[in-house]
Amino acid sequence: MLTSVIGYPRIGAQRELKFASEKYFKGEIDEKELFSIAKALRAAHVKSQKEAGVDFITSNDFSFYDILLDTAVLCGIVPKRYKELGLSDIDTYFAMARGYQGEKGDVKALAMKKWFNTNYHYIVPEIEDDTKVSLSGTKIFDEFDEAKANGIKTKPVIIGAYTLLALCRYTGKKTREDFVDDVISTYKEILSKIEKQGAEWIQFEEPYLVRDINDEDKKFLTGLYQGILSGKGNVKVLIQTYYGDVRDVYETLTALPFDGIGLDFIEGKQTLSLIEKYGFPKDKLLFAGLVNGKNIWRNKYSKTLEIIDGLRNRGIETVLSTSCSLLHVPYTLEAEEKLSDEYKKHFAFANEKLTELKELADLAEVSDRSSSSAFKANEELFSSKRDCEDASVQERLKKIADSDYVRLPIRKEREKIQKEALKLPKFPTTTIGSFPQTKDVKKNRSSFKKGEISEEQYKEFNRDKIKRAIKWQEEIGLDVLVHGEYERNDMVEYFGESLSGYLFTEKAWVQSYGTRCLKPPIIWGDVSRRNPITVEWSVYAQSLTDKPVKGMLTGPVTIFNWSFPREDISIKESMTQIALAIRDEVLDLEKNGIRVIQIDEAALREKLPLRRSDWYSEYLDFAVPAFRLVHSGVKPETQIHTHMCYSEFTDIIPAIDNMDADVITFEASRSDLLILDSLKECNFETEAGPGVYDIHSPRVPSVNEIVTALRKMREKLDDDKLWVNPDCGLKTRGEEETKPSLINLVEAARIIRKEA
Ligand code: GLN
Ligand code: ZN
Repeated sequence: MLTSVIGYPRIGAQRELKFASEKYFKGEIDEKELFSIAKALRAAHVKSQKEAGVDFITSNDFSFYDILLDTAVLCGIVPKRYKELGLSDIDTYFAMARGYQGEKGDVKALAMKKWFNTNYHYIVPEIEDDTKVSLSGTKIFDEFDEAKANGIKTKPVIIGAYTLLALCRYTGKKTREDFVDDVISTYKEILSKIEKQGAEWIQFEEPYLVRDINDEDKKFLTGLYQGILSGKGNVKVLIQTYYGDVRDVYETLTALPFDGIGLDFIEGKQTLSLIEKYGFPKDKLLFAGLVNGKNIWRNKYSKTLEIIDGLRNRGIETVLSTSCSLLHVPYTLEAEEKLSDEYKKHFAFANEKLTELKELADLAEVSDRSSSSAFKANEELFSSKRDCEDASVQERLKKIADSDYVRLPIRKEREKIQKEALKLPKFPTTTIGSFPQTKDVKKNRSSFKKGEISEEQYKEFNRDKIKRAIKWQEEIGLDVLVHGEYERNDMVEYFGESLSGYLFTEKAWVQSYGTRCLKPPIIWGDVSRRNPITVEWSVYAQSLTDKPVKGMLTGPVTIFNWSFPREDISIKESMTQIALAIRDEVLDLEKNGIRVIQIDEAALREKLPLRRSDWYSEYLDFAVPAFRLVHSGVKPETQIHTHMCYSEFTDIIPAIDNMDADVITFEASRSDLLILDSLKECNFETEAGPGVYDIHSPRVPSVNEIVTALRKMREKLDDDKLWVNPDCGLKTRGEEETKPSLINLVEAARIIRKEA
């Protein structure tokens, strides 16, 4: 049985690509050096897959920023404003991804959105009416040749034409229909070129097909692929789907002349039943995604083999595959020196998954599996009991009453009480929580972790940082202050480390976007809060000023969504456990004099089922209550904020309102404030701070630009509900740009106050 990997992580086991790119951005290394580091990484990545015995290894899964952006660039989908900068190819590319401010101009980055139901973010390509879609790059061809030169014949990958056209933003009057002919000829040209280079297979990734697809879309899909595949030569085409099942287009896909179809058996709840119901064509290969590409628990071999046997008994020619790209899991468990084997044996990161693929493929060929040591070890692992239960947590869960989900009095009444209590000006200004994580801040944390400095030294450093942060926030005139989050590595990892039931890792980095990586903690067992987590810092910050300082927490939905979840209990149960833990922290902050508390839910949207019909029953019906449970116990005068970013909110506005926060700040500037219309339409009740500038880019927004954004906001939102703030936290920014940006923000708010 052959094995296939949809994609391999690309940031480097030691995050080499991140560090090289950051150096390049700062001008510390040149293009040549950046490219050579990237090349070495690609070589290492194919090599480790080859050595693990993977048969279908992917090329062009590497990216300097994002693979959808790569595909857009390959097809010539580059907006004029970036071309006009006259930069080198790679700098034009980075300008789209991160914005550009320099000698040649001042252009914002393209929008960035969450990739399906993951915490990976993609760059939203823009098609203008006069964009000429045509083959415009060589990356896919170069990287295929490069691997070939290393002795490995790969299956190159690009995002498929359907998903590409579905995720692009159309800035003019044209729609996808207007571009379809050019897209078809571009993909055809790619097929014929890659064939000439000697590729046997090409992989088109079409995750969009696991969403709801109506008849019109289906027709479009058929036309698109009939076009692309017409006159196809010998190169075989694998249409690869993931993150769900293709229930709406299963018959469409099997009827089209693909050579392979990749289906997800992990998140695709109906994948197996679709095959059982409609059969699978004899002339195609089924790439069966049975090894979970998203979570880090070991694969249960007996269960997987049962499915493989079933498929083969039906006469289906099956290739064993990961369920999605391994982009979403860390490189290897071998890097984890502190985690004991008792835990580690339950996990498989990317490299361990390669071993699983190989072991499973081998086991698939033998009839007497019980004599295999790999099989026996796996059986034993799954029959042993994990120490993960906590009776007191389960007791507490049982005692939750319906009233625990309701904060009283109702929001309108609270609003009055809070306005009295907090005495904020109109259009209050604030930030989202974190300030630049400069080298010294990171050094302080890592020195403390390594035991190089004492706890007191560590804290003294942070207190000093906080003191300075409060001082300059007061100086520039912000209204609701923050302490700066200097003690946090990451908004989820930090809480994970302080909660019982969590495990954390040392090097288990996963790419979130571009150069940003996260180390998601692992939910191992029942979760509870041991001790206060943030209270000391917030109380210290508040002691330095009369202005309100926001307590800063991460909400249960986000903590859950950005952790590697358990597979033995429901999402609902796990989220509720976390909600109770954070509720304890909220009440402690309030008890200690904190008057404004922000509970971030940056990832609310992330695990929203991709199909609308499942949104409430399978997710929002317990995610929203989990958030409400966290804050329902506070006094009316305590103002609860929440924050969300970088995802599509327009269609879940009522659910967001129903979280019953008093204020929400969210990302808006990168998506041109499109969300304002939906807020107005839905009669959004929560006070709102749509971000006035993008924080993912080092450019400093001008006062004018912010004033313009605020004027637009005033057209859609009531003056007494409008807050002024950046898009997101400022931890990834430098101090050079942060202060000037915020000075401009405060100035813009003053101008608007005069206009109102
Ligand atoms: N409070 C967090 C911060 O400011 C929020 C981060 C986020 O939304 N991703 O960093
Ligand atoms: Zn954010």
